[in-house]
Amino acid sequence: MSPRKVGGHVSIAGGLTNSVKNTLDMSGNCLQIFAGSPRSWARNPFPQDQVQNFNKQIKQQNLTPVFIHALYLVNLASDNPNLLNKSYQALLIDLSNGQKINSAGVIVHIGSHQGRGFDSTKDQVVKLIKKLLKNTQDTPFIIENSAGEKNKIGSIEEINTLVNQINSPRVKICLDSAHLFEAGYDLRKLKVVQDLVNDLQTKKLLKHLVCLHLNDSKTPLSSGHDQHENIGQGEIGKVGLSNFINHPKLNHLPIILETPGQNKSGPDLKNIQATHALLK
Ligand SMILES: [Zn+2]
Ligand SMILES: [Zn+2]
Repeated sequence: MSPRKVGGHVSIAGGLTNSVKNTLDMSGNCLQIFAGSPRSWARNPFPQDQVQNFNKQIKQQNLTPVFIHALYLVNLASDNPNLLNKSYQALLIDLSNGQKINSAGVIVHIGSHQGRGFDSTKDQVVKLIKKLLKNTQDTPFIIENSAGEKNKIGSIEEINTLVNQINSPRVKICLDSAHLFEAGYDLRKLKVVQDLVNDLQTKKLLKHLVCLHLNDSKTPLSSGHDQHENIGQGEIGKVGLSNFINHPKLNHLPIILETPGQNKSGPDLKNIQATHALLK
């Protein structure tokens, strides 16, 4: 069996290929990047020379899959046309940049319905994602589960509705361990992980699942408040995280860390090593 893919969210500051260096520095063998600044709407196509260099290095070092994380500012459920348009345009560029680097997909937090309810915003969300898929090629659109924050879209039930209504092989799912825990899934109990996997199987969502975000949680079970902690140092702990990544139906999936790191600069060698130590 090929070794498990374990990497982290890394910076592209100074150029796309710096993410390769950042990954190798922490002994990662896959990665996630922002395709621009995480705090600004500005998005540009990746320069062609950087793309070629990046693709060559990813291949040489065997660092696939490469995920792109969308801007946190994105909200496909907003009732503000300006914000919706900015969200759409940013995702459009993320998806086309994804195609240039053969990305395994753009991971998206759908956003907040701002109290209007999922049911009254889901048609808009579905329509926008379909339009994004129509106007781009190849790159998967990956929906990430939410931490159960008020008004945020991204429960398993909501993801199920979206996946069914969009009905495209390019729609995929990413599950984040901290978000699951914060939304009420007590991963420390093997039975809870088993029930979650059974639920995904019943809903035929398992085949859409392409990535695990592995983060410990700084906040308690069902907090509805998303704050990541280093592997094994949070409320989920080693047993819970191990239950999640070693489940027989999940143990083939790439793992991406978004942990704060020892010095708050993001995932690091120590967190990658702590993850490898959990693998069975
Ligand atoms: Zn995440
Ligand atoms: Zn998170």
